[in-house]
Amino acid sequence: MLAPADRPSPDFLKGGPKKLLIGGEWISARSGETIETIDPTTEQALTRVAVAGPEDVEAAVAAARRAFEDPSWSAITPYRRSRILLQIADVIEDNAEELATLESLDMGAPLSLSRWFVSHSVEVVRHYAGWPTKIYGQTAPSGPGQFHYTVRQALGVVAGITGWNGPLLQAVWKLGPALATGNTLILKPAPQSPLTALRLGELLQATDLPPGVVNVITGDGPTAGEAIITHPGVDKVSFTGSTAVGKHVLQASTGTLKRVTLELGGKSPNIVFADADLKAAAAGAALGFLAGTGQGCVAGTRIFVEESVREEFGRLLAGELDSYTMGDPFHPGTRMGPLASREHYNRVTSYFGIAREEGARLRHGGELTGDPGLFVPPTVIDNVTNDMRIAQEEIFGPVAALMSFTDEAEVLRLANDSDYGLASAVWTTDLARAHRVAARLQAGTVWINTYGQMTAGTVPFGGFKQSGIGREHGTDVLDAFTETKTVMVQL
Ligand code: NAD
Repeated sequence: MLAPADRPSPDFLKGGPKKLLIGGEWISARSGETIETIDPTTEQALTRVAVAGPEDVEAAVAAARRAFEDPSWSAITPYRRSRILLQIADVIEDNAEELATLESLDMGAPLSLSRWFVSHSVEVVRHYAGWPTKIYGQTAPSGPGQFHYTVRQALGVVAGITGWNGPLLQAVWKLGPALATGNTLILKPAPQSPLTALRLGELLQATDLPPGVVNVITGDGPTAGEAIITHPGVDKVSFTGSTAVGKHVLQASTGTLKRVTLELGGKSPNIVFADADLKAAAAGAALGFLAGTGQGCVAGTRIFVEESVREEFGRLLAGELDSYTMGDPFHPGTRMGPLASREHYNRVTSYFGIAREEGARLRHGGELTGDPGLFVPPTVIDNVTNDMRIAQEEIFGPVAALMSFTDEAEVLRLANDSDYGLASAVWTTDLARAHRVAARLQAGTVWINTYGQMTAGTVPFGGFKQSGIGREHGTDVLDAFTETKTVMVQL
């Protein structure tokens, strides 16, 4: 276990509890309630943050509505919206090291990963800065004396509710498209890791973004989140989180038929054929389920390897796992930090017992370190069948199930035998097979001979089946944040 000489203590953490950003003002929750946010490496409190209740959500919705209707936002040119988004990217970039530090303190990601989260966030916002000037309607074939056309209009008040893994990144995945299309935003980060969203709120105040266009509400799901998803003044919810809560968000939206985008969980298959570059596949498989200490929605946690190379692949994979050194996020040698919360640690490690009870074998890892902090080693389980809980349930930690197959039809059946359909990968040197398998995998993303590649907004991202509804990024996201209006004119 690696530990650094000393740990950073950013100025942002000094002073009193963090407040809510509503209408451009930092205000305490009406109830006065605050809660600690915990550093999962030390399990010590970092600071306290406000716990929003329904009255605070009411105020945030009113502020976002006022900002939406105010000409300082609704009547500006698309060029100006682009400029503001570029300013936002710049302030994130100028404060990158502080944001990365806060992210690592708050959710335990190695600093190198947090730095990537921040640089990726900058690129995402710059990507969205390009859209305001490129959102076109259509002219339609019309009869004599008629003129029919469409325009794409902002929805109004959008809520961005996010999970605790990659909080800044998830925040800008909501902020970028919401602002590019002219909406206003209420951002609700997860209670486990709210700090970078709050710091982002401060940084936005150094740009020309009018007050109230982005509001940041901290608090727990059942209170603050629930008040948001049931509020009639919220036109859309863009949600990232678990499938269970996602289903609830969808149900709650029916009261006012809110637009809903859901980015949910996964149990992604990673398929290795015998003809693959096995060393590259083993490195990709390890990265696929260990990046972010396995707390990634796209984690490749079901590894299917062709029977004839099972032993060789298993040895190569074990070698890769040994290079994932656990430690404090601020030690430069750390590749895996702690899990993000005690509650989550207990849940992840409970699967070791479940695996044994199901008759599976913990082939690598699966023991606890006994060190302070919420550390779980890279764990590979074999003797697994695809119907076991460890092969069907999202564990969301550094734990993968290793299974084998004998032919393409069998592995496709197994890979698709899941409630989820977020991501997938296939490793092979047979080009025709790669595309054949890609065509039949039921997943929003298929990687071929790689795992986990992400772009800063250029390709759509989202899930089949219970991994979600709708897409972030690509051109699809523009539809998700706008309404199409048809205008018919008698000339
Ligand atoms: P979660 O569902 O517990 O919480 C997500 C957010 O929803 C939090 O902000 C939480 O406070 C809020 N929430 C909880 N109850 C609510 C309610 N009743 N009403 C409104 N909001 C409520 O998820 P999590 O544990 O924070 O995140 C991990 C999950 O997120 C995993 O399942 C993971 O796969 C998924 N995830 C998906 C993606 C994706 O893009 N598909 C990305 C990251 C994480």
